[in-house]
Amino acid sequence: MRIVLLGAPGSGKGTQSQWLVGRFHIPQVSTGDLLRAAVANGTALGLKAKEAMAAGRLVDDQIVLGMIRERLAEPDTGQGFILDGFPRNLAQARALDELLAQIGQPLDAVVQLKVDYAELSRRIAGRRTCSDCGRVVNLLTSAPQALAAERCPKTGQAHRLFQRPDDNEATVAERLRVYEAQTQPLVEYYRQQNLLRSIDAEGEVTEVSARLEQVLAR
Ligand code: AMP
Repeated sequence: MRIVLLGAPGSGKGTQSQWLVGRFHIPQVSTGDLLRAAVANGTALGLKAKEAMAAGRLVDDQIVLGMIRERLAEPDTGQGFILDGFPRNLAQARALDELLAQIGQPLDAVVQLKVDYAELSRRIAGRRTCSDCGRVVNLLTSAPQALAAERCPKTGQAHRLFQRPDDNEATVAERLRVYEAQTQPLVEYYRQQNLLRSIDAEGEVTEVSARLEQVLAR
């Protein structure tokens, strides 16, 4: 199954991708994660991407497309994949269509995760990542005691949680603006291709996963 998850920052693309990985045994391909790894490793690509990411703008299409081309050439994507955070504008969507047509693996579905603006800001404010295992948690929705009791699979200790530098208020406002201006038009693009399925992505994580499973079964 080849899926795109479409949604604003904080809509739960990463969380639901993780659920899909377990459910369908296909890899999550997150351009945000790939870019953050490049920045952390100080690669030439990371250095180019860093400034745009810190400002909440989109990284140059050519950089992102190069990364996606390489990632989709890896053998683990042969049975399908979940694209999380890509494509993010029309140029990327068209380039993806071309790339997938070349390898004879067109998309099966594009799922739009719909979340209200106020809820997006709230979720992003509570989002934290473990610096060792990369697990993403939300301080607003996780019970503090359960979180403190959880062991990091990498260290065996409690998670060491940090806030993503681009999750600060000013950058979040810019990321949401960029989403409206550049990514939202993809809803229409995929509707016209008859690939779009929209779900209400508010409420419990498990409820959203159930809605996701339902629309993918159609
Ligand atoms: P994310 O983790 O998906 O929220 O992405 C974090 C940041 O990485 C974004 O704010 C952009 O600066 C950059 N980024 C991620 N995916 C893309 C993409 N497909 N195109 C351009 N920039 C991206």
